Amino acid sequence: MSRLLVIGCGGVAQVAIQKCCQNSETFTELMIASRTESKCIELKEKIEKAGTTVKLSTATVNADSKDELVKLIDSYKPDVVLNVALPYQDLTIMDACLECKVDYIDTANYEPEDTDDPEWRAIYEKRCKEKGFTAYFDYSWQWAYEERFKEAGLTALLGTGFDPGVTSVFTAYAAKHYFDEIDTIDILDCNGGDHGYPFATNFNPEINLREVSANGSYMENGKWVETKPMEIKRVYNFDQVGEKDMYLLHHEEIEALGRNFPGVKRIRFFMTFGQSYLTHMKCLENVGMLSTSPINFEGHEIVPIQFLKALLPDPASLGPRTVGKTNIGCIFTGRKDGKERKIYIYNVCDHQECYKELGSQAISYTTGVPAMIGTALVAKGIWKKPGVFTTDQFDPDPYMEMLNEYGLPWVVDENPVLVE
Ligand code: NDP
Repeated sequence: MSRLLVIGCGGVAQVAIQKCCQNSETFTELMIASRTESKCIELKEKIEKAGTTVKLSTATVNADSKDELVKLIDSYKPDVVLNVALPYQDLTIMDACLECKVDYIDTANYEPEDTDDPEWRAIYEKRCKEKGFTAYFDYSWQWAYEERFKEAGLTALLGTGFDPGVTSVFTAYAAKHYFDEIDTIDILDCNGGDHGYPFATNFNPEINLREVSANGSYMENGKWVETKPMEIKRVYNFDQVGEKDMYLLHHEEIEALGRNFPGVKRIRFFMTFGQSYLTHMKCLENVGMLSTSPINFEGHEIVPIQFLKALLPDPASLGPRTVGKTNIGCIFTGRKDGKERKIYIYNVCDHQECYKELGSQAISYTTGVPAMIGTALVAKGIWKKPGVFTTDQFDPDPYMEMLNEYGLPWVVDENPVLVE
């Protein structure tokens, strides 16, 4: 019986909101608030037409403004806020939640929109030197809210998408049920889907291209090891997808898992990319189209990567044309009862099945379902404690059950091929 405010109405939000409506025992009232209210109204009408008992409403909000958010939260009075806008808005939404005394949930950790901002840049340069990785996003900004959430008796659940999110729950599950000690974790994110375009990204292009064009890194014995972008390549044969090239990337759950599972000796993250995607991305990068620094074009200030986003297909529109499957999971090695053990926990998700069910492709689906699950567990008080947490810090069992129930069934392979 809770009242939920969802901020954002893009690809991920549309899945999360429809899944919340499937879970009407938990969510009885839901407001969809985003920058473009017409998208919220369109989704509300679609859900109402299909039939729901959840009482839906919509609003427009600029989530870069704490004041606007506070006004909205104060007037709607939700029990919990799910942020599925962009990582740029994480801190303003957390601030507003603290002011209004509401629990906070998101799917991606904070990064600034303007990476040239000198104040942010000075903190970033210091962090690069101290920690040894250069990604624009890191948990320090949101972990800094720990005391304030604790004192307010509120929960902030960070990164409840698939990766991060489910991959961290898989780790907690492996630690709880399969291992006394985990030595290595390899997170493998394979998208075997084909949308038929020469180039498109499966979620927000700006966030996606920033992530993929950055240096790679992994954690070994508690320390970061950084690589050049796409420097480490492996080939892996994925169940129900087949053989794919995959590349080592920096990814946010490595940081949280490294902190919360300090005994793990190595944590890596790999994502599959086709050659055409990489060639397009390199070319766009070489001509400056991935830059986040504004330039002046015929009297207008434009940010190249934002202009590129306007040219690329909207990820939310890829649903009808994407065929194939995703396979995302984690390979763990370690010991149980003195014996060596290796397991692979993964989910396979079919793009067309997702489209048939909710009108979206599998990347939005695999993120939106866990966003709903994390929110439901906080709303029901099952994952509720004061402070700022990632998904590996709670009992994984109820989350794992809900993955099976809400469309992301997982399997445990007890004899997987390891990644070299
Ligand atoms: P989209 O770009 O499709 O949607 C973003 C939504 O946020 C849009 O509705 C947009 O409004 C809205 N928005 C943007 N800025 C503001 C603002 N200032 N105020 C209010 N609303 C705003 O992104 P996705 O749905 O693909 O991604 C959503 C989130 O999910 C991102 O944070 C992304 O990083 C994360 N993600 C996490 C994954 C995981 O596995 N953990 C995987 C994939 C994504 P408008 O319609 O006006 O543009």
